[in-house]
This record gives sequence, C-alpha cells and structure tokens, in this order.
Amino acid sequence: MLEFGQDIGIDLGTATVIAYVKGKGIVLREPSVVAVDKDTGDVLAVGKEARRMLGRTPGNIIATRPLRDGVISDYTVTEKMLKYFINKICGKYIFAPRIMICVPSRVTEVEKRAVIDAASQAGARKVYLIEEPLAAAIGAGLDISKPCGNMVVDIGGGTTDICSFSYDYDDETVISTSIRVAGDKFDESIVKYVKKKHNIMIGERTAEDLKINIGCVYPKIQDAEMEIRGRDLITGLPKTVTVYSSEMLEALTECAEQIVEAVHSILEKTPPELSADISDRGIYMTGGGCLIDGLDKLLQERTGINVMVAQDSVSCVALGTGKALDNLDVLDGKK
Ligand code: ADP
Ligand code: MG
Repeated sequence: MLEFGQDIGIDLGTATVIAYVKGKGIVLREPSVVAVDKDTGDVLAVGKEARRMLGRTPGNIIATRPLRDGVISDYTVTEKMLKYFINKICGKYIFAPRIMICVPSRVTEVEKRAVIDAASQAGARKVYLIEEPLAAAIGAGLDISKPCGNMVVDIGGGTTDICSFSYDYDDETVISTSIRVAGDKFDESIVKYVKKKHNIMIGERTAEDLKINIGCVYPKIQDAEMEIRGRDLITGLPKTVTVYSSEMLEALTECAEQIVEAVHSILEKTPPELSADISDRGIYMTGGGCLIDGLDKLLQERTGINVMVAQDSVSCVALGTGKALDNLDVLDGKK
C-alpha cells in the first residue's frame, strides 16, 4: 500500500508494465495484456490473468496487447489497463500520488495525451511523461547530468529504441531511431523457422520459451536442446520434436543483424566527440529483449565498442522513470 507523498514511476511497455516506488522498489510487474469480450467490448481481465488467455481463448474473448507495436492500437483498452494497474498499486486509499510514465517512443502526441488523462482519472495528482531512452539511461545508472555522450539500446517486445545523446545545460544532442524488430520479431522468426524446418505449428508462447531457454544470436560453445510440442502440419495431430540452439541461431540471425545495422546507422549519425565518449563508456543495453544469448557479443564484435547489459535490464526503464521524479527540476530544465 502506498503512503502519503510516495510517487510512482510506471514503464508502460509493449510487453510488460512495471511500476517502481522509491523506497519500495518494484511494486508491480505484469504483462501488458488485456482480455476483452468481443461482443460487448467489456474488459474481462488485465495483466497476468489476461496473458493466460493469450492464444487459447474461446470465440468471443480476445486477449490483446494494446501497445504491441509501440503505438497505442486501442485507446480505450490502454486507458482501462493503465487505470487498473494504478488502482492495483494504490489500493483503496488513494493519496493522489505523482506519477511519471514512460511510454513507447512511437506513441503520438494525441496518444500521450490519452495516457496523461487516463492516469489523472485513475487518481494521480500530477502526471509526467518521460522519454524512454532518458529513463533507460537513468535506470542503467548513467550520469546524465554531465555533458557526456552515451548510447542506450533498449530492446523491448515490440520495438528496439536506439539513442545516442548528450545533455548539456544550454544544448542537447539526441540522435535516435526506433525499429519494429525486438522480442516479438524473434518469437515470430522462431515460429516460421520451426514450421518450415520441422513441419509443425507452434504458438507464440512456445516460441518465446525456446528463445529464452535455448535461443542465441552468436554461436554457443555447446549446443543446447529443448523438446517442444506443436501441431503436425501434415497429420494435424500433436507432435513432439527436439530443437537445438544451433537452429535458433539460424532462425534469429536475420533479426539480430537488423538490430546491429540500426545501431550502426545511429553511430554513423553521431557527432565525433559524442561517439568518442561512447566508445570510452560503452553501449548500454536495456529491456528484456537484450537478454537473448549472445547479442552483446555480436554487437561488440560488429561495432568494436564495449557492450554492457544493464543490471536488471528488464526493470531498468521503470527504475529510471521512478528516479526521474526526484530530478524533476533538472529534467524540467532540459525537456
Ligand atoms: P517492453 O519494454 O516492450 O514492455 P520488455 O523490456 O519487458 O518489453 O521485454 C520483453 C521482451 O523481452 C519479450 O519479447 C520477452 O520474450 C523478452 N525476454 C525476456 N526475458 C528474456 C530472456 N531471458 N531472453 C530473451 N528474451 C527475453
Ligand atoms: Mg521497455
């Protein structure tokens, strides 16, 4: 339960919503999934409960991820989801907290407004929005108060956001891009690969399990394996096959290369002094998607720059968002 004066930082991610409260740490971590009754439009379940329904719902219930591609595909549903989470964090005693929200970088101004309204209606005293790369940088422990170049690569579910920046008192440089190649694309590539190679159809959740357990984008020293069940495309019956990490490498390389290429393009556009700082300080990776085995090695090899996976990379943005509330004056001056 929140106490008076406690502020909340919320990372409204495409895959996960994470909330951070100073002194308490992470107070909520739920999938950004909503189950809706197709006929009436009613929201039936939100978060963990709704995720259980993904891919296995009866006809009239659909489980969706309203922010899937980094844009708000369904306005009202997103609003309901955010309200549900805020109420869950605040409990029944609402002390009108200040809330800082980090929204995916592709979200438009109109959609941002909707997020602010939803949080206000859910009981926030004041709502602030923060840009994802900035939140990720703060969460990763980078000192952004110094006029020094940094690079953050945040790989979420729907989007990979790459940003090189330096904030100075009278000047700021931000070079960024966002591509729709991230965790979900890895999963989709696995589904396609398994279908083609083994002739079986698997669901997204099985693909994600494969990715997390044996997935890799850089050759592993020792091949790992995992048994999975899917539907045989020829007989239509359930079938079990063994999949190897060497196959995952084949399935995932293309996506990984697209991320590497996007990082390259940002490095090319980055002014020389800034890139000199970045090569000294290294590239920081955040978000759940960066945990795929070998991505740090691949990126390091291709750029010649040290690549660091931020500590607790999944919660990094939420942490940064929460911490940003302590630095509102500094941020106000900058944004
Ligand atoms: P978002 O910020 O968009 O909500 P997250 O940062 O929560 O996304 O990352 C979600 C993505 O991270 C999902 O695609 C998930 O499969 C992936 N992921 C989480 N853990 C791992 C892991 N250990 N290995 C590979 N991918 C992971
Ligand atoms: Mg994120």
